[in-house]
Amino acid sequence: MAIRNIRKYGDDILRKKAKEVTVFDDKLKTLLNDMAETMKDAKGVGLAAPQIGILRKVVVIDVGEGLIELINPEIVFEEGEAVEVEGCLSIPGINGEVPRPQKVKVKAMDRNGKMFEIEGEDFLARALCHEIDHLNGILFVDKAIKFVKSDSEG
Ligand code: ZN
Repeated sequence: MAIRNIRKYGDDILRKKAKEVTVFDDKLKTLLNDMAETMKDAKGVGLAAPQIGILRKVVVIDVGEGLIELINPEIVFEEGEAVEVEGCLSIPGINGEVPRPQKVKVKAMDRNGKMFEIEGEDFLARALCHEIDHLNGILFVDKAIKFVKSDSEG
């Protein structure tokens, strides 16, 4: 496993659309392992592959309930709205209040290419939406309704 370099705001790659994963090989497993380690090292709760310069639809999330790996994730259902403060490992020093669905259902594949669904509410719903946005070149600052300076990264 290795810690990868996290791309920061202003890097063009954060604005590009990630491509579907079609090959579920050892390279993908290494990527997932490295992403989990990089997220943990940075004390983040989520990381999308474009944040380490890889334009593939791969996301890892850990909101304190265990590691979630998502390949080619897609939101298939959303409900409600909540406004909470969030941040991004690619945008250190700034947080923002962002409206997100209160609940989402996401369809994705695991590291072996097997389909599954995951439901998230509140903070997990927020993390799922935030990371899936990264795969489409969207950052939380695009959706924030208010900015807050911060020392912590999220
Ligand atoms: Zn982010």
